Amino acid sequence: MPPSDSFSLSTIGTIHSCYKEKFGIPKQPGLVDGATARLELLPPYNRLDTLDGLSDFSHIWIHFIFHACIKEGWKAKVRPPRLGGNKKLGVFATRATHRPNPIGLSVVKIGRIYQEEKRVFIDLHGADLLDGTPVVDIKPYLPYADSITDAKGGFAPEPTHTRSVRFSDLAKHQCENYQSLHNKDISTLIKQIIEQDPRPSYLSEQTDREHGIKLWDINIKWCARIDHFEILRIEHE
Ligand code: SAM
Repeated sequence: MPPSDSFSLSTIGTIHSCYKEKFGIPKQPGLVDGATARLELLPPYNRLDTLDGLSDFSHIWIHFIFHACIKEGWKAKVRPPRLGGNKKLGVFATRATHRPNPIGLSVVKIGRIYQEEKRVFIDLHGADLLDGTPVVDIKPYLPYADSITDAKGGFAPEPTHTRSVRFSDLAKHQCENYQSLHNKDISTLIKQIIEQDPRPSYLSEQTDREHGIKLWDINIKWCARIDHFEILRIEHE
């Protein structure tokens, strides 16, 4: 039995994200580029000089902790949603959240790097991270080393197929209102999230059942129709 070394990691930062609950977050980064987030460095790492040179890169690797499911433990075999929830694979052959060490890894496009008083931030685009996610490391993405164009993708060779999204007249009007009030293109974000079909696989054949997704301070009510998704309305939390 190898020695069970245990290491302690410090949280170097935290994620401020539009995603207030796990339901609705895309399965990987880059699928919903309308999703904005910020990575905030925490003391004593909240020093702008730790990021010197990072703005010469377009993407970063973020190592983080799946903190919202840490208490649920891990399983040797898991059911990847894209296999319909029926087929089981070994946890290390998947990007499942329930792992022996709940460590996640996302490559994310970065925007502005800046300081506001004592707080240091990196703007993120298209992250697949829940609000409050603890970050344990950041590294620049190196295309020559990290992008392997002829790599095999196993059971996940490409993004899952999407379905078209339509807005009810009420939802359309509410998005226009929200956009004029908050200067956020909320309808593009909603469209990109829902077209990923966030439902668990066992619900993927169901139609007309109402679902809700919490983004910032709003709850998006939507349902699946036979050949598209319909955004029903927006409710304020
Ligand atoms: N790109 C990462 C990776 O490959 O390690 C994450 C992949 S995992 C399949 C993506 C899912 O993790 C999201 O859909 C969301 O439900 C979940 N998630 C995101 N942040 C989380 C957190 N802080 N705690 C638990 N689950 C989280």
